[in-house]
Amino acid sequence: MSDPFDLPAAHPFGIHNLPYAVFEHDGTSRVGSRLGDHVVDLCSIPGAPYADAWAQPSLDAFLALTLADWRHARAWLQELLSDREEQPALAGHLIALDEVTLRLPFTVGDYVDFYASEHHATNVGRIFRPDGEALTPNWKHLPIGYHGRSGTVVVSGTEIIRPCGQRKAPSDPAPVFGPSIRLDIEAELGFVVGGSPTTLGRPVSVGESDEHLFGVVLLNDWSARDIQAWEYVPLGPFLGKSFATSISPWVVTMEALRAARVALPGQDPEPLPYLRGEPTADGATTAYGLDIDYDVEWNGTLVSRPPYRTMYWSPAQMLAHMTVNGATIAPGDLFGSGTISGPERDQRGSFLELSWSGQEPVTLSDGSTRSFLEDGDTVTLRASAPGPDGSVIGLGECTGRIRPATP
Ligand code: CA
Repeated sequence: MSDPFDLPAAHPFGIHNLPYAVFEHDGTSRVGSRLGDHVVDLCSIPGAPYADAWAQPSLDAFLALTLADWRHARAWLQELLSDREEQPALAGHLIALDEVTLRLPFTVGDYVDFYASEHHATNVGRIFRPDGEALTPNWKHLPIGYHGRSGTVVVSGTEIIRPCGQRKAPSDPAPVFGPSIRLDIEAELGFVVGGSPTTLGRPVSVGESDEHLFGVVLLNDWSARDIQAWEYVPLGPFLGKSFATSISPWVVTMEALRAARVALPGQDPEPLPYLRGEPTADGATTAYGLDIDYDVEWNGTLVSRPPYRTMYWSPAQMLAHMTVNGATIAPGDLFGSGTISGPERDQRGSFLELSWSGQEPVTLSDGSTRSFLEDGDTVTLRASAPGPDGSVIGLGECTGRIRPATP
């Protein structure tokens, strides 16, 4: 275990990251940050500015504060952890990661899942509708999404029970019921909403998104493709998705991802005015993308490396679209980016695409082949982004193992 005060510059949990999680230690759960392989027990530090919020067993109270508070907390912690004279005393407020249990970090409010990768939407369109246009006519005009089930969002490490449901292949005369035989993953980025609740009828603009985007988590939108394919017309995903969604325990703040902001790959046609970004003082735009590299591991074999920078829609645009009808948002809301797929085969963020619906199975390092998940399989998402001055911002991991269907 590395010395938390003498980490290599490229350590993914150095002083430029400082994500938040909820950890359990000695019988109580509270909010912590992370330095190297240690949890920083925030509320135990004398003079901690948000000790009341950090003493809670969730991030809920801290999420309900403001962008100014989040920045103040980050500056305080960065200064404290960098102060050589403070370090001996601070050591008593660090707990080794392997001595804690990480919990679901916040109470998930409304959950929305988008579909913001052009490569993913094109691949799925080709697979599900081989005789039609790959992209639907609306796709480049609005970030498509649906409302999901917040109560089944679980923290990384929670086992996933194979869902049962109806399925019917086009050639079958009638549907059958049983455990899904096409269980899949979707590697996504989840955006955690914070700040003041908004008012009915008052949209959040693209330029206001910083006030409401607290941070990100890794998100795996487990998907039963056979259930989904039979049920999704005309109202979209339902039971093929709602059985479980996994998120990583560490919430990496949008402030820590400042250096990872990049231009979007390009939007043509130009979106309607309410979805357009505005130039910012540093020459960027409020409708930014994010440079985050993912690894997808299937039973320990690296099978894909989806690049988030290829996503078509900005998180700020997704937030603006989600509220443009006057719908409210509140701290604790969560929205997923949609599956992250790049243009190459080894950049696809779902096994549906990676195996091209079972036609091109994936070979794992033990020599076995897979198209969809088998009982006992484990999938782990990992990701990292560039930080300032050559540093690395780690997003940690999001993992889940498949349990057989409940009889
Ligand atoms: Ca999804």
